[in-house]
Amino acid sequence: MHENTALIRARIRRFVSERITPALYRSSSPLTMSAWEVPDEPVPFAEAMNQDFQPFETGTLWGKPWGTTWFHVTGVVPEEWSRFNNLDTRTEILVDLGFLSGQSGFQAEGLVYDPQGRIVKAVEPFNNYVPITAGPGGVVDVYIEAASNPDVGSDWSFQPTAVGDKATAGTDPIYRMRRMDIALLDRRVWQLDRDIWTLLGLMEELSADLPRTAEILRALEAMVDAMDPDDVSGTAELGRGILAPVLALPAYASAHRVVAVGHAHIDSAWLWPVRETIRKCARTFSNVLQLMDEDPNFIFACSSAQQYAWMKEHYPQLFERIRERAIEGRFVPVGGMWVESDTNMPGGEALARQLLAGKSFFMREFGVEPLEVWLPDSFGYTAAFPQIVAAAGSKYFLTQKISWNETNTMPHHTFNWEGIDGTRVFTHFPPVDTYNSVLSGEELARAQRQYAEKGASNVSLVPFGYGDGGGGPTREMLAAAERTESLEGSPRVSIATPRAFFETAEASYPHPPVWSGELYLEFHRGTYTSQAKTKSGNRRSEHLLREAELWATAATIRTGAEYPYDRIERAWQTVLLNQFHDILPGSSIAWVHQVAEESYAAVREELDDVIATALAALAGPDAGGSVVYNPSPFPVSGIPAFSAGVRAEASTPRVTPNGGGFVLENDAVRIEIDSRGLLVSLVDLGTGREAVPAGEPGNVLQLFRDTPTQWDAWDIDEHYQRNGVELLDADSVELVPEGTGSVAVRVTRSFGASTVSQELRLDADEPTLHISTSVDWHERQKLLKLAFPFDVHADRAASEIQFGHIYRPTHVNTSWDAARFETCAHRWVFAAEPGFGVAVANDSTYGHDIGRRTRADGGTTTMVRESLLRAPTFPDPTADQGVHVFHTSVGITPDVLSAAEAGYRLNLPLREAPGAAVAPVVTSENPAIVIEAVKLAEDRSGDVIVRLYEARGSKTTGAVAFGFPFAEVTETDILERASRRLAIDSNSEDGVRLTLRAFQLVTLRIARR
Ligand SMILES: [Zn+2]
Repeated sequence: MHENTALIRARIRRFVSERITPALYRSSSPLTMSAWEVPDEPVPFAEAMNQDFQPFETGTLWGKPWGTTWFHVTGVVPEEWSRFNNLDTRTEILVDLGFLSGQSGFQAEGLVYDPQGRIVKAVEPFNNYVPITAGPGGVVDVYIEAASNPDVGSDWSFQPTAVGDKATAGTDPIYRMRRMDIALLDRRVWQLDRDIWTLLGLMEELSADLPRTAEILRALEAMVDAMDPDDVSGTAELGRGILAPVLALPAYASAHRVVAVGHAHIDSAWLWPVRETIRKCARTFSNVLQLMDEDPNFIFACSSAQQYAWMKEHYPQLFERIRERAIEGRFVPVGGMWVESDTNMPGGEALARQLLAGKSFFMREFGVEPLEVWLPDSFGYTAAFPQIVAAAGSKYFLTQKISWNETNTMPHHTFNWEGIDGTRVFTHFPPVDTYNSVLSGEELARAQRQYAEKGASNVSLVPFGYGDGGGGPTREMLAAAERTESLEGSPRVSIATPRAFFETAEASYPHPPVWSGELYLEFHRGTYTSQAKTKSGNRRSEHLLREAELWATAATIRTGAEYPYDRIERAWQTVLLNQFHDILPGSSIAWVHQVAEESYAAVREELDDVIATALAALAGPDAGGSVVYNPSPFPVSGIPAFSAGVRAEASTPRVTPNGGGFVLENDAVRIEIDSRGLLVSLVDLGTGREAVPAGEPGNVLQLFRDTPTQWDAWDIDEHYQRNGVELLDADSVELVPEGTGSVAVRVTRSFGASTVSQELRLDADEPTLHISTSVDWHERQKLLKLAFPFDVHADRAASEIQFGHIYRPTHVNTSWDAARFETCAHRWVFAAEPGFGVAVANDSTYGHDIGRRTRADGGTTTMVRESLLRAPTFPDPTADQGVHVFHTSVGITPDVLSAAEAGYRLNLPLREAPGAAVAPVVTSENPAIVIEAVKLAEDRSGDVIVRLYEARGSKTTGAVAFGFPFAEVTETDILERASRRLAIDSNSEDGVRLTLRAFQLVTLRIARR
């Protein structure tokens, strides 16, 4: 046979685009439109429909950025359509709001209502039809709430844009209405179009030398030959008949099995504000429900309890329809978290609460407990997560984000993921490498080709449906799934739930490989630092919540005061929402971060009041004196953990001028600040050991060029290190007028358009230098780091993560080590050699890097740097501008536990208030058993919940005592349900004795008497 494959392929494609696509609708005619533009923020249907609608024509511009326009669409289904067979056609409204060429969810979208205010469906690019039940002569009458959201991402050139803030986005209309028709879909042509799409997609992926490839090509050619190009509708069945035999051939016996799960990744905020996400959810979910009505096999998985909660509050009718489908098992709550949060930065208790709040919502509303944690898109995964997942009663974990790694390829797609404490969770990375599949031949082939477990396991999951900005599955995708259920050359596709996938995968792969430790994303390393105010808002809120729960619990136990369940729950929900994987990471538009900062301010106000109310209750009506409350799990200034008392007397440290600088000294350390305001000496007076290498001062601000190749707010690229300056010159270095119990030096510097004022303080009772750094930041595309070189020989350094810490190498031996050039830490990092270490703690930064070099004298300098500020210009061109205050503490500490103590101390300062001494409600006798949360139970029974963990990284025993009468102590999971008794050795009169394995997380429930 002569070779003419390329010509045939081109001929088929032209036949599809010129003949079949135009024949999808047999007939159409324009509908009548009138419009009302909402003056500002969106309004409900009932309010909109009573407005004065003005006539509106196709071809007219509409919609300012972030605006809403309601279209009232009316007309009559043409009488002459009665000549068409009902089974072969379907009447639909066809809408083109002026859709851009890009993907759905990043531009104009609309939600369609009937005149009674019931939601029908949404209209978006690639899903722009509305089914109409009226027959010929019947009336058409709908309202469309159209959102003129700007395309912030545009062509992903990462140019600064003003459209991410309503105040600067402009008011000129940005869309032109192209089409508002009543139209008659030709079902036979549509089915033929789907047959061709699947076969073409499959053919493109198959090897050219396979008989199957040629068979498909010849069948498609025969179809084109047989059909009448001038009567596509009349010959569509003929064409389908020719393709039927090639579509009927079954899959290979060893074909890869794909479990396809309907999905819509809806970022809870990103290139749109939260208020738009609420509408996005309504639009996507209404599409899903409409599709479910038509296809009984369709299953859709949606994570994020928050998104369901929004529906319950703002779209109660839609929520009831979701509830029905959820109970039926087709609208599947998945993941069990409140939102798809970041997992690098949220604190341990916050990650626990993500699962507690999320799973509780699903169990309460639908009687369903998701067992999978579903985080396809978050930017790396903490090594603490396996234990937290298991402690919340979940079993499985899913993400695909690690496929975005710039340097290394993860060796597994299905594996056991092992956390810092040894807990293992069965984990799957969909090899399709997307959470927005359309079930194309290319994607299915990719899933099969890339699947790394071949030969041992043969099943993977493919989430399908338009996502990021929502949209979800379409009828075209369901048609693709139907055609690939068993199709020669294609993976076998079946639609099922995530749970069904995991059960199948686990059963078929009893001994999966193990990946131990964090799932570090070799990408998006700037997200630990961008939008510093959002970062500090999170950190402060987490600690205020902890304090509020602690003191409110104490007040309830000691005085019978009412526990503010609802106020605390609301504050948690705000904090959990803001941990969404584009808010806390700082990768959203300006609008999102402005709202986040406002909401953190409101949380602070609320919790300050909760705390003040609790402390007032504890003080009683006749509070005379003044005490300090210690919310830290460690004693501070002589005040035991979780108690109130009078600060121990301590002598004021000494300060001596020294060559333009100062020497600060207390009973534990001697600190030298030079005339440039730099830390040139830090000596432990107990051992005489110097921590600062000669000639390498600490407290050095370093300013780097920060121009990543792409994804500005997300990425710090390795090349930043090659263009930096040290800000060594000080404008002034002076003594701060003497305070009580402390001495301090103030240093001011200026650079570019920015200024820095630092206070370096030594307290009486602590071997620690406290540095408060206030930066008035007006740079663009710069990275500011605070550097501390230490004379410490450390092969690895510890960083605090949730409920523990991890060690990362300080060298770059392997490509995996080298790629980890910027890392996330919580309250502290710690670098040590046996018997001598240094801890650098912070109150609001997460980005760090810790490296080392060999000096001329042969010693090793370990360099610890905090990343304080960035100023990316996309997607928020004003990111990080303004005043920021960072607190850092630097101390010589013998071991990792003292580093943890420093971290708590810095983040949970003493609080002075009227009152008398208060005894702690719970005490841990062993400092390695750290109490992370004290609260009352979610079921509002009055039981006390205490969450604690082993913090040193070694097996330990110790007593935990309760300062109140109690009946029973049980171990529970994070959801506060009784679990196996693993940690409690024995009960005693005043508490329990525990044995904890390294980093073990334990939740205790104490029934009060
Ligand atoms: Zn996302």
